[in-house]
Amino acid sequence: MNPKHSILLIEDEENIRSFISTTIKNQGYKITTASTGLDGLHLCASLCPDLILLDLGLPDMDGMDVISKLREWSPTPVIVISARNHEQEKAKALDLGADDYITKPFSTIELLARIRTSLRHAGNLTGAQTPAPYHHKDLTIDYDKHLVTLSKEMVHLTQIEYKLLTLLSQNSGKVLTYSYIMEKIWGPYVDNNNQILRVNMANIRRKIEKNPATPEHVFTEIGIGYRMAECE
Ligand code: CA
Repeated sequence: MNPKHSILLIEDEENIRSFISTTIKNQGYKITTASTGLDGLHLCASLCPDLILLDLGLPDMDGMDVISKLREWSPTPVIVISARNHEQEKAKALDLGADDYITKPFSTIELLARIRTSLRHAGNLTGAQTPAPYHHKDLTIDYDKHLVTLSKEMVHLTQIEYKLLTLLSQNSGKVLTYSYIMEKIWGPYVDNNNQILRVNMANIRRKIEKNPATPEHVFTEIGIGYRMAECE
């Protein structure tokens, strides 16, 4: 598995949205769009994108507020795309936690270069502490390559499934509570019922357990959460 990087674009102007979407898709990124700040925050919580492109002038809230709300719980890199070209605005966005700032109009080449840089930077930040691969019985997770294998066969996981499995395996042997996992993966903007987590866990088990009813890798601690078998 080598999931494509996913990008969330929050932009209310339709022509800019479709121009950026097409540009990004052509480069092999996966793109999701939102036209309001609130939709953007909800999508960020449910999809866990690798990068966010954010317009500052949104109909329902200021992009600056989107950045500060996001930063309460999400480290996802944010590139601001804005027509506002004042140094103060740029400084404010960066101070609030944006990673970069592009002024409209911008070239496709510039946009793609900024995206690559932000993604690389985000990768390096975690890369500095990339843990050794996880091994347990026939299951291996190589965090560096984003690769999950079962008896040397590649396991195809969605982005969310991979993030869940990474969280559990990097805390292997420990029980992680439902609410801890929900907060880590989806942030505080998701409904607090655990349905979305249970569905994802069931899918993961179908993919990595020989018999999902008697799991060998990920155990349910009933009423509490999940625990992944300790790394061997
Ligand atoms: Ca706008």
